[in-house]
Amino acid sequence: MNQGFGDTANLAYYALNGINFKGHNGQDCQARYGQPVYAMCDGVCFPEVDSKQGQGVNIVTREQFDYNGKPVFYKVLVWHLTDDDAVVKTGQVVRAGDLIGYADNTGLSTGTHCHVGVKPCAYNSIGTLYNLEDGNGFYGAVDPAPYWNGLFAEDLNVNLVKKNIITHTFYIPMKRGDVNSEVLYLQRALQSIGYFPENVIPNSIFGPVTQAALFAFQKKYVTNTMSSFVEVWYYMGQYCGAKSLKALNAIFAPPTVLPK
Ligand SMILES: [Zn+2]
Repeated sequence: MNQGFGDTANLAYYALNGINFKGHNGQDCQARYGQPVYAMCDGVCFPEVDSKQGQGVNIVTREQFDYNGKPVFYKVLVWHLTDDDAVVKTGQVVRAGDLIGYADNTGLSTGTHCHVGVKPCAYNSIGTLYNLEDGNGFYGAVDPAPYWNGLFAEDLNVNLVKKNIITHTFYIPMKRGDVNSEVLYLQRALQSIGYFPENVIPNSIFGPVTQAALFAFQKKYVTNTMSSFVEVWYYMGQYCGAKSLKALNAIFAPPTVLPK
């Protein structure tokens, strides 16, 4: 990280260039020139060229999230990418881990890096997306730090998307209402074997779609004993407990290498 959110070190430089904010409105991540940049979330792409920001890509989520009690879509943006040929087109749907561009130094930037921003958004009555926090002194951006979940988009790309091979050891029970990276793995795993709908982008939220997918999976794989059969029908996919985790691991856990 080169510069964090809210950093005021370069305010004079920004002001000189017509950008007036309270502090840096994103996180600057180190990158070398030409380094691939991957989508940090699932969503729809809106590439943008701006004299100050350079070449950028906005990704707008298709799912709504709760933001201080308000339903929002998130716009996740990356600036200063190479401008020779845009990797993604307007309206293109990407998944976390898909390639969206290459790192560069375009726009108001003093070295190759990725400026990462997060803006909570909503649609107005005529369907235009607007920044919910536009007047906050950060051009609508909020601190991205709380939104990182510890997964690297690059790893998602290699392990889950490109090769379409999912290996994951499931050991954390999940239940309806959970929102975490384990749920994301569950959704992708169930999607890869046809239980989570193909046209729904996994979003880490254990809601009705995940429940239905898990229920279908449980009916097939977690009915070996009468007690679990009863459990399956009683909870109808609301809980991913020990038996379901075991069934998932039978399919998705990476092969164990036995010591010689
Ligand atoms: Zn920046």
